[in-house]
Amino acid sequence: MSRRIVIVGAGLAAATAAVSLREGGFDGRLTLIGAESVPPYERPPLSKEYLRGEDAEPRWIRPEAWYRDNAVDLRLGVRAERLLAAERVVELEGGERVPFDEAVIATGVRARRLQVAGADLSGVLDLRSLPNADAIRAATLGASKAVIVGMGFIGAEVASAFRRLGLDVTVVEFSATPLERVLGPEIGRAIEALHRDHGVEMVFRDAAERFEGDGRFEALVTKEGRTIEGDLAVVGVGVEPVIEVAGDQIPIDNGIPVDATLRTAVEGVWAIGDVARHDHPVFGPIRVEHFDNAMKMGETVGRNMLGGDQIHDDPHWFWSDQYDEQVQMSGFAMSWDQTVIRGSMKDRSFAAFLLRDGQLLSTFSMNRKFDVRRSMPLISSAARPDPALLADPDFDLRELYPSVEERA
Ligand SMILES: Cc1cc2nc3c(=O)[nH]c(=O)nc-3n(C[C@H](O)[C@H](O)[C@H](O)COP(=O)(O)OP(=O)(O)OC[C@H]3O[C@@H](n4cnc5c(N)ncnc54)[C@H](O)[C@@H]3O)c2cc1C
Repeated sequence: MSRRIVIVGAGLAAATAAVSLREGGFDGRLTLIGAESVPPYERPPLSKEYLRGEDAEPRWIRPEAWYRDNAVDLRLGVRAERLLAAERVVELEGGERVPFDEAVIATGVRARRLQVAGADLSGVLDLRSLPNADAIRAATLGASKAVIVGMGFIGAEVASAFRRLGLDVTVVEFSATPLERVLGPEIGRAIEALHRDHGVEMVFRDAAERFEGDGRFEALVTKEGRTIEGDLAVVGVGVEPVIEVAGDQIPIDNGIPVDATLRTAVEGVWAIGDVARHDHPVFGPIRVEHFDNAMKMGETVGRNMLGGDQIHDDPHWFWSDQYDEQVQMSGFAMSWDQTVIRGSMKDRSFAAFLLRDGQLLSTFSMNRKFDVRRSMPLISSAARPDPALLADPDFDLRELYPSVEERA
């Protein structure tokens, strides 16, 4: 009997794993189980080109024909209830049991819901999936004013898209600046200035108390007592990993823990993408929610399931588009004790290096993407670069690379 692999989830990581397995020569049975009713697609345009109406079609990871041509059994519109590791079956809603020899969990994350009154009013929307983006697009038609709760990357990108569509935008954010938790107040203030210059109204250190409206959203009332009226509200207050399928047979800890080769604690069960908390050789156990990581994990898991033993040691890379500014980030930092700025924050051409005990953990940039790229080998090698060199805009970071080959 041919070996059977079942991938639970049908997003970016899952589809990339399927491609990696088939391209790596896997000729056994391959099944992808996806709760959404469409083939795997890219989510980043949902807060950018697609939301602005510039992309008429979703960006598919592979055309549907690819799955047929490569004998991938794509089971869409069906939720996997439970992966029973001991019995080697995945139980689907409705009771069907799909047997496997090896399984991959790639269930991603879901948008965190606000537990406040009125959160289920029509016109109060969140953004994770294609139908979510369609609902927001539809709500913007004929609208003139939008309220956004939360100014992380999703809130900031939606604010940017809405301004391009000509909507008035007010954002309410719990912290003192946008993205303060991930980037700190200094860079947060640079993002704030960018949005202010594009006419976004921002209210900081306040939060949603309740949504009001007669059957449909009309206003947000905040904890500090403000009433902010609008035609629609978008909530972007973070995400949580989708772990229910792991049941009680696979350990859970802020997602599904995997080792550096993407294996869970259960033999023959792997986890990848946003749901996987991987053991990174430089950063330790981390879970990231980035496109590039999900894709690379998909590639790596395919190779490792076919006998490889590749360590997932990517230094991580992320981008965000806000107005015409290119925002990029590499590495990973939960906390840091030094921020070194290169370039000009005022002119929106800068890199910010985040260090802890002298070690470079992460580089953020606005319109200096080469600094982000060039810092990646330094992050991977846990380098402790001289802050004066980091701050010098004319100093080429490649001079600091540990080996001559990486300089090429
Ligand atoms: C609006 C938006 C904009 C983004 N922009 C950027 C960006 O600019 N840059 C960047 O780097 N990253 C961005 N990201 C993040 C990036 O899209 C994710 O990191 C990536 O999609 C993760 O892929 P994944 O396969 O792990 O999870 P997902 O893409 O979330 O796919 C998981 C799939 O599994 C399905 N599923 C879950 N549970 C079950 C179950 N029990 N049974 C069956 N199916 C199930 C889900 O329905 C989903 O389709 C953005 C994300 C969003 C939502």
